[in-house]
Amino acid sequence: MQRRFEQEVSSAAVVMSFDFEMRWGVHDLYGLNFDGYRRNLESCRPVVLATLNLLSERKLCATWATVGALGVNDWNDYFSCAPPPPEYVDPHLAVRKEYASMDPDGIFHFAPDLIRQIVQTEGQELGNHSFSHLYFREPGVRQDDFFADMAAVENLFKARFGVVPVSLVYPRNQSAFTDQLNKTSIKKWRGSEPAWFYDCTSTKQNTMFPRALRLVDSLNPWAFRASPCESEVVRASMFVRFSLPESLWKLQIMRIRNEIKALQQDDVFHLWWHPHNVRFDLRRGLPRLTQILDIVAETCMARKIASRSMKDCKHVPMQVANH
Ligand SMILES: [Zn+2]
Repeated sequence: MQRRFEQEVSSAAVVMSFDFEMRWGVHDLYGLNFDGYRRNLESCRPVVLATLNLLSERKLCATWATVGALGVNDWNDYFSCAPPPPEYVDPHLAVRKEYASMDPDGIFHFAPDLIRQIVQTEGQELGNHSFSHLYFREPGVRQDDFFADMAAVENLFKARFGVVPVSLVYPRNQSAFTDQLNKTSIKKWRGSEPAWFYDCTSTKQNTMFPRALRLVDSLNPWAFRASPCESEVVRASMFVRFSLPESLWKLQIMRIRNEIKALQQDDVFHLWWHPHNVRFDLRRGLPRLTQILDIVAETCMARKIASRSMKDCKHVPMQVANH
């Protein structure tokens, strides 16, 4: 059983979800270049532990959308638990067997101890981020791959951590096979922010233009992307960028404050990021992380708004007037 806070019930909510993936989330970008993202990856462990402490102190809930492979002990364990890889048209997207000799101790690939800490921390939900960071919208991925992947994560998390995952975050937000989710353990999944440029998620679509629009949107203090929970979809509202220069960081902070203050009945303001986004410069990253969590805790308390994980978001059907 995962632990949870007793909270005041409120119809509006702030949700946080973290894509916890370590090197699996960038393996296709860095391949066999082990040092390419090393400093960010080295920050993952201290950032996860610090985040858990900060959340716990402030009684905040979150969903940790976790790559299943992080839950195994070593490479032998990985190759015996991983489902057969999809036949991607683009071979760069596939997991390479050579990762095992590049990182023999698995320091950037496995962290079952951190998953245990997440499960044992009050208010934290262990969610699914696929077994090896699978890109479901890329050509070559079939429905069989989807079912095998969902089953592999479910079986591992249930057997080793006592948790059946019910919330899913698709890697790179490449949502697919959503009409098949009712055949898996998943009840909620994170949708993209409600604007077209957030849905350009495949390698082909994700060009400079939609990326630039996403950056501008995240820094617009008057943008409002909170929205009610839609049945099984808990839509993202904002990706937090920790590495901004100070002036832009202040705009982003203003946006977060403004959105929480403006939440209406049933609105969900859904912040998300990756632990490695807090970056290798922890002297700058950790104070910023603390600032965000302080704002969430203070504004939620002031407005009696609930902090929730994805699984606790409720869909409120539209009221239909009787005539
Ligand atoms: Zn990811």
